[in-house]
Amino acid sequence: MAELRNCPKCNAIFNYNGLRDVCPKCAKEEEELFEQVYRFLRQRENRAASIERITEVTGASPELLHKWVRKRRLHPAQFPGLGYPCDSCGTIINQGKICRSCTDRIQSDLKQHESNMEFRETVASQNKKTYLSNRDR
Ligand SMILES: [Zn+2]
Ligand SMILES: [Zn+2]
Repeated sequence: MAELRNCPKCNAIFNYNGLRDVCPKCAKEEEELFEQVYRFLRQRENRAASIERITEVTGASPELLHKWVRKRRLHPAQFPGLGYPCDSCGTIINQGKICRSCTDRIQSDLKQHESNMEFRETVASQNKKTYLSNRDR
């Protein structure tokens, strides 16, 4: 379904078709940059180039590189220097949305939260019992 959107790069209004998130002009520029990045990375000595290095050589912004890796247009298995920032702490990762240590942290926060809830429920039900037995007396 077509939808009018503002291009996040140049602010032009364009018809969003679900495929590109920027206007056709910017999309074309991005494609040209992608070609350049890809040509650079395909050279054997550049395979493991870091994002900083690629930015320096091709002029593609780190955000653009992150986007291509997220979309798997550039595969970190093939180019080990590539990645994108963890949604939570910004560490460069190459799979999922958040890094290992944030995953661990969130999981233990969740457990902590759950045990707090259990504790509160236990206290609440005990209070109720005390209240009832006091009343019975
Ligand atoms: Zn644009
Ligand atoms: Zn993280």
